[in-house]
Amino acid sequence: MSPEDLADRLQSGDRRALARAITLVESARPDHRARALALLEALPKENETLRIGLSGTPGVGKSTFIESFGLMLTGAGHRVAVLAVDPSSARSGGSILGDKTRMERLSRDPHAFIRPSPAQSELGGVARRTREAATLCAAAGYDVVLIETVGVGQSEVAVAHMTDLFCLLIAPAGGDELQGVKRGIMEIADLVLVNKADGALAAQAERTCADYAGALRLLRRRPQDPEGVPKALTLSATEGTGLDRAWSEMTALAEWRRAEGWRDRRRADQAVHWFEDEVRHALLRRLSQEPVKGAMTDLAARVASGEIAPATAAQELLDHWLGGAPPDR
Ligand code: GDP
Repeated sequence: MSPEDLADRLQSGDRRALARAITLVESARPDHRARALALLEALPKENETLRIGLSGTPGVGKSTFIESFGLMLTGAGHRVAVLAVDPSSARSGGSILGDKTRMERLSRDPHAFIRPSPAQSELGGVARRTREAATLCAAAGYDVVLIETVGVGQSEVAVAHMTDLFCLLIAPAGGDELQGVKRGIMEIADLVLVNKADGALAAQAERTCADYAGALRLLRRRPQDPEGVPKALTLSATEGTGLDRAWSEMTALAEWRRAEGWRDRRRADQAVHWFEDEVRHALLRRLSQEPVKGAMTDLAARVASGEIAPATAAQELLDHWLGGAPPDR
């Protein structure tokens, strides 16, 4: 099937076409890559899909939350896609987020589409392909795309670079410490959602929420936020309480940013970010592949023997093997 046909089928709401398109963008084969790019180019440019990032350490209730939140949204007439950026699947071959039995009811919902994290050898690859998958889901008519990640390493930052808003899901913490949450993540979070605010954990969840609210008030207000954002809320994914409030906070923030021009600015910045990321990645890949790799080895030997200076060797590599470099400014 041509990329243009696949683009048409996908936009007509054909789920199998969407799944196939995602498989195509995830493929590392050069001929697949060329077709994936043609497919992405054949799709209409931006639309009104809301992309939401969701992060949280294993066990806080991400899949439970996504299932009940997703079902609430599909029940209200939305079409919801769920994607994942899971660096553990790259490292160990085992995914924290990829288990098919998670979100069982949502996965059977005809208005939902769930796709596990792509398997790639590095986080950057996982993130690049997930971002493209989100574009495909948006083109396929999913008006809410949830992108889930685990609270480890750089994956939150990557997800924040591909979403309109970012939520951090946490569990009630003992004592007054802001458990295990790195400051950097607090700074990219728009909403802190304290899950498990039910039964015996309810009071503790309220205290944790108040602690976070206090900590968030100490952060410098970002220009892209209205007063009071980032915000902390409690909810219970198992009981379904607080989910509607979380959704109304998300939509209110998204609407404010859209009206103020921040959404488009953020998306433009993100597009540039991924362009630069692709260039950097492609250059690094060329350095590790023949013929550049061999040329580098030869030049390194000449540098080691003192035959040429390091900078001269670098210049030679750039000029002869990587298509020339602009002169130093
Ligand atoms: P994930 O690893 O972040 O995807 O977490 P899961 O969704 O698998 O949930 C981990 C555990 O927390 C499970 O035993 C859930 O039943 C439980 N859990 C999730 N949400 C809630 C909640 O709102 N309240 C309570 N009490 N338990 C929850």
